[in-house]
Amino acid sequence: MGAPSQPHQATYAAIVIGAGIQGSFAAYHLAQRHRDTLLLEQFLLPHSRGSSHGQSRITRSAYPRAPYDRMMPDSFRLWQRLEAEAGTSLYRRTGLVVLGPVGDPELEGCRRSLGANRLLDATELAQRFPGLRLRADEAAVWDDTGGVLFADRALRAVQDVFRRRGGTLRDGEKVLRIEPGAVLTVTTTAGLYRAPRLVIAAGAWTSALVAPLGLRLPLQPLRIDVCYWREKEPGSPDAGRAAPCFMAVGLSQAPHGVYGLPALEYPGLVKVCYHHGSPADPDKRDRGLLGAPRPNIALLSSFISSYLPRLEPRPAVMESCLYTNTPDGDFILDRHPKFSNIIIGAGFSGHGFKLAPVVGKLLCELSLGEEPSHSTAPFAITRFPGALRAAL
Ligand SMILES: Cc1cc2nc3c(=O)[nH]c(=O)nc-3n(C[C@H](O)[C@H](O)[C@H](O)COP(=O)(O)OP(=O)(O)OC[C@H]3O[C@@H](n4cnc5c(N)ncnc54)[C@H](O)[C@@H]3O)c2cc1C
Repeated sequence: MGAPSQPHQATYAAIVIGAGIQGSFAAYHLAQRHRDTLLLEQFLLPHSRGSSHGQSRITRSAYPRAPYDRMMPDSFRLWQRLEAEAGTSLYRRTGLVVLGPVGDPELEGCRRSLGANRLLDATELAQRFPGLRLRADEAAVWDDTGGVLFADRALRAVQDVFRRRGGTLRDGEKVLRIEPGAVLTVTTTAGLYRAPRLVIAAGAWTSALVAPLGLRLPLQPLRIDVCYWREKEPGSPDAGRAAPCFMAVGLSQAPHGVYGLPALEYPGLVKVCYHHGSPADPDKRDRGLLGAPRPNIALLSSFISSYLPRLEPRPAVMESCLYTNTPDGDFILDRHPKFSNIIIGAGFSGHGFKLAPVVGKLLCELSLGEEPSHSTAPFAITRFPGALRAAL
């Protein structure tokens, strides 16, 4: 055995912490701007400990909240660009049904964002998608741009293009310390790196990284049950692979919403999840899980019996993932209030994947001191009073 290797030391034009989908897209855009960029990841890649793993995520145009609605056309365009650059397909168009009680504000917001004049009633929806059932006082809106993003493949593609542009990705290297300054110093388990700008996109670990920088962000990591449900009659076209994606909003029995995607990961198993979970320490995500009560599974079983009667109401496969929620469900995309060359992207609250190409672009623009191409005012840290601790 040789002598232990010396810690790495190097200087870059930019450092990004976190090779999930947001940090990887920030690094991709920085490298495109000919910036010599280092992307640091604590785990060996690929890994399933954060928020970006798995084969599928929903994308859509229907967005009840204006800032996201305005960003989606740019996002669709940038996903297509990545497909072309990586020479691979990352998106399958399935369409998306948004369903909820007639008059529900979120359902109405989706209708407005699509410019649709009217909603589909229960009979119309049943004719079109017999696998989906509504109650008489419920309605649906159809988003024909909706579909599935191939998440793991997308993450690999954006990292491959980043490296092809000359970027450096170092995985299995955890950031331990950040020293602010005109030139920042980042200390990891294997090295010491310097750069004039830093992007922190560390998902559920963001609070731990920014606390020593005097920031207390109201980020709540949640463990999410990712559930797959078997078709009662395997291969039925409208329950399985050929079904649309869906989102259920405004239901009293599922107040945070339910969403589903056609069978993809496992043949004949449809992914249906509750859009909420249990508070978790990201380093101990699955602790105490065996045998513990899982109230969200009972909620999903009851939802499936009512709305998706062609599926068995017991999950066939269960996996885990993490959300990092803000109190208002909106992202954080901002400069550190005191150290303006530290940019933070966090709090994606379970809906950040589809927007990652735009999020990465905004993080890149903020870090270069440019006017962001979409307003980042709705994503400001200052909306949380007390986020900047007086100690600094
Ligand atoms: C089950 C599930 C379903 C979802 N469905 C959808 C959907 O349908 N549509 C949609 O748009 N969004 C969806 N999302 C949300 C979306 O996946 C997330 O918003 C997105 O993946 C967040 O990415 P991230 O890069 O912020 O976090 P992460 O992927 O967790 O990346 C952060 C990275 O930082 C690394 N890191 C942390 N600390 C350090 C450190 N000290 N040093 C080095 N590296 C560090 C972590 O290891 C991690 O790899 C879903 C999420 C889940 C969990």
